[in-house]
Amino acid sequence: MLEVSSMRSVVMDLFELRTAVNLLHGTERESDRQLRLTQLGELAGTIMHEVNQPLGAIISSADAALRWLDRDVPNVASATRSIQRIRAIAGRSGRTIADLQLLSANILIDFTEQSLNSIVEEAVRISKPQLALAEVTTTICLDPARPVAKANMDLLLQVMLNVIQNAIDSVLEVSDRKRTLSLRTFTSSESVIVEFEDNGVGLSQDPGADLFDPLYTTKKSGMGLGLALCRRVMVAHGGSIQARPNPVCGATFAVSLPQVAPSRQCSNVVG
Ligand code: ADP
Repeated sequence: MLEVSSMRSVVMDLFELRTAVNLLHGTERESDRQLRLTQLGELAGTIMHEVNQPLGAIISSADAALRWLDRDVPNVASATRSIQRIRAIAGRSGRTIADLQLLSANILIDFTEQSLNSIVEEAVRISKPQLALAEVTTTICLDPARPVAKANMDLLLQVMLNVIQNAIDSVLEVSDRKRTLSLRTFTSSESVIVEFEDNGVGLSQDPGADLFDPLYTTKKSGMGLGLALCRRVMVAHGGSIQARPNPVCGATFAVSLPQVAPSRQCSNVVG
């Protein structure tokens, strides 16, 4: 039988244990809150980053539409095309943001069979004004076997737009050579791959630098979120994104996805 003093000591131990457990739960709740805040901040930054690019494209298309209408003889057909482009960009951005929200909540997003070649062509088409402005000569080499992967079209397109924008930023820093960007698609051991090779400034020499870490940036007005987001999107696809320096100058980014077996490919996929 326990003596009164021993009982008191057991009660005290229990009390202290309870207090410690409460404290621990409080700390857990606080760190949970901190984690959520960090995730929220990252999501907000990502959305800002993803909204900036289409906003730029919307403004230039709106300016073009105004110019077409402002002529002595207004060119309504061309103005209509610019407005349709605005509509398409806005629609796609809305879908991308919705998909990003799903991705950040770890909810399964919609994956369907997609022609890699078609998405590459679309990404280049959308980036055309920025590529032209930066005087980048772009070459595209598409795999005639028309590789197909299961992907979320809007998110994969967004990854490609990010990589192309980074290539433009990189080549803009060089003026001693003709600026180039080469894109190619191919299949290699069960993966479909698209490579983006630029002849810009090349990758940072800092051995500790991880380009894919959130907030890593070497640009004055960079946010360092684009590649982190690209990596997250590619991991959600069961794929990857990697960077390597080129032998002479510039960098190559490779985006890869698991290939859909040829026998299971859709017959209505075009590319
Ligand atoms: P941001 O563009 O805001 O800097 P990103 O996450 O897209 O953010 O890129 C992170 C960093 O990776 C860039 O600041 C740059 O240092 C490096 N980087 C990305 N793409 C290239 C490229 N094509 N060539 C050289 N460095 C690159």
